Amino acid sequence: MPNSSVTEDVIFKAVAPLHDPRYGKDLGQLKYLQDVCIQNGNVDLTIVFPAPGSETEKEVISQVRKVIGALPGVKEVNISSRIDISSSSSASTSPLIPEVKNVIAVASGKGGVGKSTVAANLATAMHAFGAKVGLMDADVYGPSIPKLMGATKPPEVTKDHKIIPPVMRGIKLISMAYFLPKDDAVIWRGPMLHKMIQDFLGVAEWGALDYLVIDLPPGTGDIQLSLCQTVPLTGAVVVSTPQDLALEVASKAIAMFRKLKTPVLGIVENMSHFTCPHCGQRDDIFGHGGAIQASSQLGYPFLGEIPLSSVIRERSDRGEPVSLDKSSESEYARAFQEIASNVAGEIAQANMKAASNISIEIE
Ligand code: ADP
Repeated sequence: MPNSSVTEDVIFKAVAPLHDPRYGKDLGQLKYLQDVCIQNGNVDLTIVFPAPGSETEKEVISQVRKVIGALPGVKEVNISSRIDISSSSSASTSPLIPEVKNVIAVASGKGGVGKSTVAANLATAMHAFGAKVGLMDADVYGPSIPKLMGATKPPEVTKDHKIIPPVMRGIKLISMAYFLPKDDAVIWRGPMLHKMIQDFLGVAEWGALDYLVIDLPPGTGDIQLSLCQTVPLTGAVVVSTPQDLALEVASKAIAMFRKLKTPVLGIVENMSHFTCPHCGQRDDIFGHGGAIQASSQLGYPFLGEIPLSSVIRERSDRGEPVSLDKSSESEYARAFQEIASNVAGEIAQANMKAASNISIEIE
C-alpha cells in the first residue's frame, strides 16, 4: 500500500496537541521530536526530554506511539528517547564556567535548617538520574559538604595553579573546608569572598556539567548578596523548617533573590514531621505545611518535604547521602529524589521561558 499520506509534517501535526503533564505544555511547544525517519510505512524517531527524573516520560512515549501508530499508512513506530538537559543562558554565557549548563544556589534564611544536607542530597540524586553534577561549598561559616559527602581527598593544585576538584560518588566537589587550617575561625570580608568564589569558579576545572549545585552561606547579608552577584545563577532553592519564624526568614531570602532578579525555583520544607520508629505515629514537631502555605502565598513552587529523622542525621554524619539509599522502602531517599526531580523540572521550565523570551525579542 502506498504510504504517501505519512510525512514528517503529518506526524508533527498529529503529535503537537499531546501534553507533557510535567510542564503543562503540549508537545508542539516542547519540540520533543527529533530525527524523524519514514521508510515504507515504518516511522523511527527520537524523543528528547529537557530534564531527567521525570515520571511522565513513559506516558509521553506511549501516547506518541499510539497517535502515530493510528495514522493511515503507518506500519510500525520505533521510538528511542534521550535526555538533553537544557542550558540556562546566564550560566552558559559566563566566561568563568562556559561548559556548565545550570547553576543552582541552595539557600536559607538562617543556619541549621538542613541547607547543606539538601544541597548534598540534591547533587547525589541528580547524579543518580544520569546528570553530570558538581557541588561547590560556599558556606564560609561552616563548610560541611566534604563531611556530608564522605570526601577526604583534597583537591589537587597543579603547577599552573589550576584546582582539580576531587570526585566523590561521581560528583566533582570543591569546598572552603579544603583551604582553611583546621579550627581556624576566618572572618570573611567582601573582597576575600569575591576572590574565593572567582577562584572556585574560574580556577577549578569543573569541565562540562549539567548542574553545579552551590551551598550558600545562611542568611541574607552583604556576603550572600555579593556571592549571588558573582555567580551566574540559574535559580535558587530555598530551604526552611516549618515554624513561622523560620518561614519568615526564608521569605527574606526570597526577597533577596527577587532583588537580584534570580529566579526562585521553589521552597523545600525540611524537618517536616517525625514518624516514631517504634509505634509509627507521626508527630509534627515544628508544625507542618508551613512551607506549602508560604510557597502558595509567595507564588513559588513547593519542591517537597523531608521528614525529621535520626537516619538522615546519622547517614549525614557518616558521609553517606541518604538519597542514595537503594531500598525502595526508604521514604527519605524518595523525598530527596522527588525534590531533585522537581528542581530539574523547574530549571527546564525556567530555561524554556528564557528561550521563548529571547525569541520574542529577536522577532
Ligand atoms: P545548615 O546547612 O542549614 O546549617 P545542615 O545541613 O548542616 O544545616 O544540618 C544541620 C544538622 O541537622 C546536621 O547535623 C544534619 O545532619 C541535621 N539534619 C538536617 N536535616 C535533617 C533531617 N531531615 N532530619 C534529621 N537531621 C537533619
